[in-house]
Amino acid sequence: MSGELFVNGDCHCGKISISAKIDKNTVRACHCTDCQKMSGAPLRAIAVTSVNKISIKGKPKEYIKISDSGNKRIQAFCGNCGTQLFATDLKREFFNLRIGFLKQRDILEPKEHVFTKSSLKWVSNILKKMK
Ligand SMILES: [Zn+2]
Ligand SMILES: [Zn+2]
Repeated sequence: MSGELFVNGDCHCGKISISAKIDKNTVRACHCTDCQKMSGAPLRAIAVTSVNKISIKGKPKEYIKISDSGNKRIQAFCGNCGTQLFATDLKREFFNLRIGFLKQRDILEPKEHVFTKSSLKWVSNILKKMK
């Protein structure tokens, strides 16, 4: 795959390290209210990988988020420092890595912005300027 890239990073306290192969074309920024609330940030960006392309050292703490539609998603973070690491399905097949803890985050530019209907007003203004 042409967009394939090796990424790695640690949580803030260093207890958990993750490395993975992602596809750069899967990087997206989500502006949904769950992402805003759980990240403490105006938006959350992710890169997608799968179970056979990820290596996790340490044991992330998990929280199961139930969406309005009843869909369950595992949200993983460091139980010590709180760094957000990834979200995955209950079968743990695909992983949405939070790009914030990845060393390569600077080059992981989102290919798309989703749930922009709930973007913060000032973030929408920045997005408009980028167009
Ligand atoms: Zn930590
Ligand atoms: Zn979201």
